[in-house]
Amino acid sequence: MKYLNEFRDPDAVAAVLKRIERRLTGHWQIMEVCGGQTHSIMKYGLDQLLPAGIELIHGPGCPVCVTPAEILDAAIDLAITHRVIVCSYGDMLRVPGSKRSLLDARAEGADIRLIYSPMEAVALAQENPQCEIVFLAVGFETTSAVNAQALRTAAGADVKNFSMLVSQVTVPAALEMISRQPDCAIDGFLAAGHVCTVMGTAEYEPLAKSLGKPIVITGFEPVDILLGVESAVDMLESGRAEVINKFQRVVAAPGNRVAQEGIFSVFERIDKSWRGLGVIPDSGLGIRREFEQYDAERKFGVTGVGDTLASDCQSGLVLQGLIKPHECDAFGVACTPETPLGAPMVSEEGACSAWFRYRHLERP
Ligand code: SF4
Repeated sequence: MKYLNEFRDPDAVAAVLKRIERRLTGHWQIMEVCGGQTHSIMKYGLDQLLPAGIELIHGPGCPVCVTPAEILDAAIDLAITHRVIVCSYGDMLRVPGSKRSLLDARAEGADIRLIYSPMEAVALAQENPQCEIVFLAVGFETTSAVNAQALRTAAGADVKNFSMLVSQVTVPAALEMISRQPDCAIDGFLAAGHVCTVMGTAEYEPLAKSLGKPIVITGFEPVDILLGVESAVDMLESGRAEVINKFQRVVAAPGNRVAQEGIFSVFERIDKSWRGLGVIPDSGLGIRREFEQYDAERKFGVTGVGDTLASDCQSGLVLQGLIKPHECDAFGVACTPETPLGAPMVSEEGACSAWFRYRHLERP
């Protein structure tokens, strides 16, 4: 398949690995920001193929993982106390809130629906005008564009019984926060290609400069990731902190301006709480005042959405790259995909689930 097979080609992988090995003299820690990249790295064993001088660190780019427990608590409360129908994606239904998941609440009688698109939630509201429908809108910039479209559709059709409980986050502020931690040892980043497809590369230029760390826009196939590592190593070895786009077949420097306009016509930048990381200034997208009737927090008076973790879950450390999943005591013991203590073990993009799926037999 064009644009896929050549990026999984073993000969191409070997060639890039050889070039990296030739260029490498130092020891570098490089964070892959996106959970999709983490799964690819673990699935293909790329971290084990790289020379010992390169360590890949898993980043926070998993939307389900960074959604605070208290947003889930709020969604459960809306479903039970206000008798609304809460709609969200499959992974979100299984993620633990501070006490239980949306699936647990459904088992207790709450009306929780699994959907595949926010437009389904809008349609559900139109079909059921006597019910309040709340869509749990989580994710990074990529999903924000789709969520914005759904909200505009609801507003255009004057759907009054639809609203969104929003926990949307943006990548650059999180990278800055992680980099500024005193114990951060990350030397460079592989940024998430799909986010840059929407947002472009401009936000990353000042970030790379101010952090003094290279950022490489990278795709998700093995060759994509290794090309990203190669660029990062090249910049690190030559003392450069620039932004390089190695996902040019998909990402254009300006991004998708139509999508950006759509996002910011509905949402505005706000401080946001991330699970395990706390509140990060300017790291979220909240509903603009003009659309407040679609904001479930305002509509139902939701307050106190912060950040609570299951007691044994160290996802905050995992999401900052300070520990690897198998270094958490609960990994594979108290916490498995069947009995997850934290979101990174639930999500398809979570680092803990990647380690469990591909590496749990190797746990020291
Ligand atoms: S293994 Fe489970 S408990 Fe440990 S950090 Fe990951 S999700 Fe949390």
